[in-house]
Amino acid sequence: MKILTNYIDGELLPTDNHLDVFNPAEGTVYAKAPRSGEHEVNCAVEAATRAFVKWSRLSASERGEYLLRIAQKIEEHSEALAMAETTDNGKPLWLSKAVDIPRAAANFRFFATAIQHFASESHSSETVTNYTLRRPIGVVGCISPWNLPLYLFTWKIAPALAAGNCVVAKPSEITPVTAFMLSEICCEVGLPKGVLNIVHGYGGEVGACMTAHPKIPVISFTGGTKTGAQIAQTAAPLFKKISLELGGKNPNVIFGDCNFERMINETVRSSFANQGQICLCGSRIFVEESIYDKFLEHFIAKTRQLKIGDPLKPETKQGAVVSHEHMQKVLSYFDIAKEEGGKIVCGGKAFQGEGRCEGGWFIEPTIITDLGPHCRTNQQEIFGPVVTVTPFTSDEEALTWANCTPYGLSATVWTENLTRAHRFARDLQAGIVWINCWLVRDLRTPFGGVKQSGVGREGGWEALRFFTQTKNVSIYQGE
Ligand code: NAD
Repeated sequence: MKILTNYIDGELLPTDNHLDVFNPAEGTVYAKAPRSGEHEVNCAVEAATRAFVKWSRLSASERGEYLLRIAQKIEEHSEALAMAETTDNGKPLWLSKAVDIPRAAANFRFFATAIQHFASESHSSETVTNYTLRRPIGVVGCISPWNLPLYLFTWKIAPALAAGNCVVAKPSEITPVTAFMLSEICCEVGLPKGVLNIVHGYGGEVGACMTAHPKIPVISFTGGTKTGAQIAQTAAPLFKKISLELGGKNPNVIFGDCNFERMINETVRSSFANQGQICLCGSRIFVEESIYDKFLEHFIAKTRQLKIGDPLKPETKQGAVVSHEHMQKVLSYFDIAKEEGGKIVCGGKAFQGEGRCEGGWFIEPTIITDLGPHCRTNQQEIFGPVVTVTPFTSDEEALTWANCTPYGLSATVWTENLTRAHRFARDLQAGIVWINCWLVRDLRTPFGGVKQSGVGREGGWEALRFFTQTKNVSIYQGE
């Protein structure tokens, strides 16, 4: 049994109080993580506060050196990290190897370099020169979810550290193992003590303490919309700076004039990648009526080919969903959809694993038709391998339906008509729009949602602006 520890003030600290960590492909407990509370959060904040003075005064390139060393160690340990991510989360091993772990290293590399180019501005007149400093803020709280564990954890930590802050970070209690391995890496590279502190535990305990802590003026959060609202409520009277990356119910709008072959392959990916557990998955598919039947036939056929089961097998395209509770939640939507008049045309039930995966939590990739855009199935985030398909007859109808949920994270449009593509890009209520592609990410570009999908942006300069505070200095040089 793997026993994890907190990482506070440069030390890996064992605890007596633990919570269970499950392997979702087997349905078994395989690790124990610390169940921390207020005491551990306080220790982490004190350590980060002490470390801040020195860390924030290092030059950007000196801090960058540490980040680059962490990136290199992530790459050196990539096999073990990928295996841990898959064991913890249930996602196919090839996906952890190809995406999750390389991206965690890339996060550190990217911000180690970006910070060198994050310049101050200056504005001069005859008598006064102004320059604007961007200063680190202090102790930053980072809270992340379970769907892309190390990928999203490091997406927050790397820019916060690069900008000169010290960090208290909490990974999801459901997938804490790679965060623990990151703390081992930080020890290995000799990151100065207190600069990064990783405190494990439940959201309502550790996360809530962090959000309410008077010495953490900044909270960067990725997770569910409900949790985001709780964080905003706690943070408001304390005047904290917050960034909230929340849920989505993203539309995928497909026109008859698209490149069908490319669209169908990418739509299978955008529907079911990571078992549909990516906030950016296109869970509501709207298809122009003229190609609706052809679309459905090809989409169902390709979805049926997705191999479900043991995440360690290279041919597996659908691994396990993250927990038993989450599986029950996703499955409950099949009944809701049926009650709402929906027709399940593919999947629609749990999948029975074999061998070591007999007790695992698997769901067949599921396609539902015949639902209106305003029903629960089409309005609430399911966050599993489930999509709905709805025909539309005009651009206006497609746009209205695409925009008709409380969410606004991402949207995809498939069309060869340039004017229409730009019009949709302009009018879709989403923070990210993909035209003729899906989940193409450039780390320099802003990432985040509108409406109930979030507040603020991550990525590139946006992240570095968030993790710094601006100060204007005016120098009088007249007579
Ligand atoms: P969650 O909100 O349950 O948990 C996220 C994190 O918040 C966890 O670390 C959890 O322990 C912590 N937490 C829970 N309650 C808390 C509280 N009261 N105070 C402080 N912290 C608390 O979300 P989840 O189930 O882990 O993740 C799935 C959700 O994340 C989905 O809604 C998904 O769309 C969203 N998500 C969004 C993005 C994005 O970039 N917009 C990316 C990935 C996932």
